Amino acid sequence: MLPLVTHDELRPLLGAYAAGALAESAAEAVRAHLASGCTECLHDIFSRPVGLPRGGGDESSRTATEPPHDEAERHAVHAPPPAPVRRGRRWGLAVTIVVLALALATFASWTIYDLREREAARHAEAVRLAARVSELEAARAELATRVDGLAHDREAARDEATRQAEAVRATAEENASLTAELEAARGRIATLTRGVQRRDSEIAQLVTGVDEQRAVHDLAATPGVELVRLKPIAPVADAGGHVLWHPARDTILLYAFDLPPLPEGNHYRVRLRLGDGRVEDGPVFRPGPRGDVALPIRLTGGAAHLREVQVVRDSTAEPVLAGQTRPLPSS
Ligand SMILES: [Zn+2]
Repeated sequence: MLPLVTHDELRPLLGAYAAGALAESAAEAVRAHLASGCTECLHDIFSRPVGLPRGGGDESSRTATEPPHDEAERHAVHAPPPAPVRRGRRWGLAVTIVVLALALATFASWTIYDLREREAARHAEAVRLAARVSELEAARAELATRVDGLAHDREAARDEATRQAEAVRATAEENASLTAELEAARGRIATLTRGVQRRDSEIAQLVTGVDEQRAVHDLAATPGVELVRLKPIAPVADAGGHVLWHPARDTILLYAFDLPPLPEGNHYRVRLRLGDGRVEDGPVFRPGPRGDVALPIRLTGGAAHLREVQVVRDSTAEPVLAGQTRPLPSS
């Protein structure tokens, strides 16, 4: 920029400036000061002649050495205008030039200043934008790194989930298979258990039947077997039956029919009176639909001591049928 020069420093330069004899840097300093609007210097510069004086001497000396009046009158028609007039025109031109120069200098300096300001602003803006671009680039790179990391984590999590799902499915299938096998095994065990129970029952019935049949057959085939008649005991009137008995055997066979029907849950019982006066309880039974029953009865001490066979109601001990193998001692 232009060097700052004070009003007092410029004053001595004004004459040389008006004469056009200043170096360019000094002339620029003068123009800058005039452009600042210093009226004193402007008035000074306007009152001075512009350009170097032509030839030797100043204006006042030239005026003093003017040609004589007669010669001036002789060339009156073609003579130039009088000196004061020429001087006034020259001053007007000088003022115009100076004003134009000042305006141009002011405009140029302002234009240069404005351009420099704009360039500085653009440069600052460019620097700021470059810094911003650098920041954004760094942020973008960091984001890209984080996105890569997240994508990697997501893939790892997806793989882990797949592995766990496969493990769960495999375990579930294994459990289902084991459960099915367990159910099948339980079913087989239940079937076998029922079969064993049924067979046990059948075997027991067979054994019982075989024993009874054998006992009855043996009894019936024994010479000297006796048939003891069972008679109804009042108020029962219609029932009847028989006992096959042999004193050398330990089994007797009781056959009865037309026994009175029993209430639900009630039974008949066989009672055995022995020769020594004791009474033994025999088996309980429910008769068939027609009130009949065929019942082998095993006697632990043998049949030799048997004196009387009774059929009684089990709940009340009330006799219904009775028959004697031997006459009871009249005691
Ligand atoms: Zn000044």
